[in-house]
Amino acid sequence: MGSTSKIEIKISALENNFSFITSLIGSNTKLSVVIKGNAYGHGTHTVIPILENLGVTHFSVYSSAEAKVAYYERIKDSDIMIMGYISKNDYDWVVKNKVEFYISSLEDLKLAIESSKNVNKKAQIHIDLETGMNRTGLSISQLRRAIPIILENIECLEIKGITTHLAGAESIANHMRIRKQFAVYKKRLKLLENNNITGELKHVASSAATINYPEMRLDMVRIGILIYGYWPTRETFIQYIHRRKDKSDPIKRALRWTSEIIITKIIPSGEFIGYGMSYQAQHKMQIAIIPVGYCNGYSRSLSNTGHLLIKDQKAPVIGSVNMNMIICDVTHIQKIKIGDPVILIGKQGENEITFSSFAEMNNSMNYEILARLPENIKRSIIT
Ligand SMILES: *Cc1c(COP(=O)(O)O)cnc(C)c1O
Repeated sequence: MGSTSKIEIKISALENNFSFITSLIGSNTKLSVVIKGNAYGHGTHTVIPILENLGVTHFSVYSSAEAKVAYYERIKDSDIMIMGYISKNDYDWVVKNKVEFYISSLEDLKLAIESSKNVNKKAQIHIDLETGMNRTGLSISQLRRAIPIILENIECLEIKGITTHLAGAESIANHMRIRKQFAVYKKRLKLLENNNITGELKHVASSAATINYPEMRLDMVRIGILIYGYWPTRETFIQYIHRRKDKSDPIKRALRWTSEIIITKIIPSGEFIGYGMSYQAQHKMQIAIIPVGYCNGYSRSLSNTGHLLIKDQKAPVIGSVNMNMIICDVTHIQKIKIGDPVILIGKQGENEITFSSFAEMNNSMNYEILARLPENIKRSIIT
């Protein structure tokens, strides 16, 4: 299928980010790279071999379906950990192939034990503790019920880890809540230890906590957004850079998403452009049409607000993002022609398109736009 856009993944950027993260966490903390959401849109099949060659040996996914993709794409013997949903039909496959997974409910525990007996292998589990996010994980009462079940079935279970997830370590506004969660986590660890249950890996930190709370790195960190070259929020970057002499950004964006101009035209002053009346030319304008729209992963929320790069210059999106097209203003750019390359995400010359808005403190736009990049856009590797 001829795609209207393409994605390039830059090995040297991933390498740079990997070195940054490993030097930050040191050798006593293990790195698990989070590759859910098709590796944040970078392409699981593209990213896994690159990361394995750099030395990554542990990957985290959301579901058993994602685990299967990762399992068959890996070129080394890397560990894979499911942090979320396992389809009932997949339990035996998961346990048989020693894929690690979270136990977030008593039901999960029961299924893990059943599967272990089915396939005659130990289930590689991470006990997921509810510590205050109120999403997944065993509450204190569930944990008290789980402990005897774990102990009675310990021949079926290998306790690979004890974990929790923090509710927003990227923002100082959540500081108290995060500290409280960590205190609860440590209390629950004690309770488990008192019952002779110790996990090989204690882990709680994602990218933001790894940066903002060094004491929470423990045995392993689960890093997603940072390895791809984005900060969880602008605030996290500022917190990091605040403590340094060198104020330059230590990470590099690994993904470039490009398309091309298919039509360009001159619009007289006063005309409306695109559907409806959301954009009216205030002067004589030149516009360009790009064959990428919301069905190709370019969010409608960028209508009248996004920017593209053409000939090293920023071109604002005008009107609403259509299903297959966007219109942009190129009045200020000289010598525009059909076929000119267009950068939707990434660098060109001195300019770069990312979706972190500098005004917004708690910004999840990077995560969303990356994760929604369709799987059928071709990914290629550049050095
Ligand atoms: C997505 C996710 C992460 C990684 O988060 P980043 O902010 O991308 O580093 C870590 N842990 C869990 C449980 C997650 O769901």
